[in-house]
Amino acid sequence: MGVFMEKVSVNASKQYDVIIGYDTIALLGSKIKSMFPSSNVCIVSDDRVASFHIDKVKAILDDNGIANEAFVFPNGEKSKCPQVLFELLEFLAEKHFSRRDVLVALGGGVTGDLTGLAAAMFMRGMHLIQIPTTLLAMVDSSVGGKTAVNLEAGKNLAGVFNQPELVLCDTQMLLTLPKEIFADGMAEVIKYGVIADKELFEIVKDGEIQNNLEKIIARCVSIKRDIVNEDEFDTGRRQLLNFGHTIAHAIEKNSNFEISHGSAVAVGMVIMSEVAYKNGLTQVDCSGEIIDALLENHLPISCPYKNSELYEATISDKKCAGGRISIIIPDAIGKCSAKNISIEELKGLLA
Ligand code: MG
Repeated sequence: MGVFMEKVSVNASKQYDVIIGYDTIALLGSKIKSMFPSSNVCIVSDDRVASFHIDKVKAILDDNGIANEAFVFPNGEKSKCPQVLFELLEFLAEKHFSRRDVLVALGGGVTGDLTGLAAAMFMRGMHLIQIPTTLLAMVDSSVGGKTAVNLEAGKNLAGVFNQPELVLCDTQMLLTLPKEIFADGMAEVIKYGVIADKELFEIVKDGEIQNNLEKIIARCVSIKRDIVNEDEFDTGRRQLLNFGHTIAHAIEKNSNFEISHGSAVAVGMVIMSEVAYKNGLTQVDCSGEIIDALLENHLPISCPYKNSELYEATISDKKCAGGRISIIIPDAIGKCSAKNISIEELKGLLA
């Protein structure tokens, strides 16, 4: 236990460490004491995650003499909204928190996005620590500083870039994760393999995950770190992280968000690699290998919607600025490139 600890340092507008390993949460007290002496902590979590983990987190803070409160909200994407955000801000004010204090986001992507935004807003900025509890949040949303809530008009429409000051990925927490939620994260892991790391892809395709969890998460975080370091504010290279995501967003939207993000990304990667090869945008057909990797990791490979339905959903997406859209094409497993195309070209590709 605790033997395989990995550390990835991110150098964005803030410098911070992502620490990955079994029971890394035990480090929380000593880290807060050294990084933010005599600060108080508000833990933010949803009711589902709280039932598994909040007692342990509170006990660690109590044992270290760190005063703490907890704000717990209902589990689910519906909570990623302005109303819950402002309830959290009012709670912080009521409990007399200040900008010297620390918000700890304990949960998946919803919790991380909501808490990250609150940390940027409350008194114009307080400290932020991310403790992602899902594989998806560990490899993706807890690193890179994107925060947001959803508006009536669409997902992630109100947010800011706000990097955390520490990320603790505790692989012990993955043990209590439902199978389908773990699989969801594997879709993003496979994505990292396709866009940047053939060796990672092979490990995952062969299903050798459980014994390599720390290493796999560290590699995903490193890939994201390298891309974010180059393009923190998402004006260029960061788009590579969106492989499979254009189609995925359309699938999620068509399903009224019943289909999970990971499942949608899985199918999006299959469709995009097939379409890119058929239309001569890439010389290599990666779809077969991607399908093998997805099936090995209990992810779907086929789409319940017609391509025309996906196209309609895509052109109403916020990422479709000025009638053009960036698509990410696998040149080979481990290497990909972005191509900016018009919506007419997209329509042709999906025909
Ligand atoms: Mg994603």
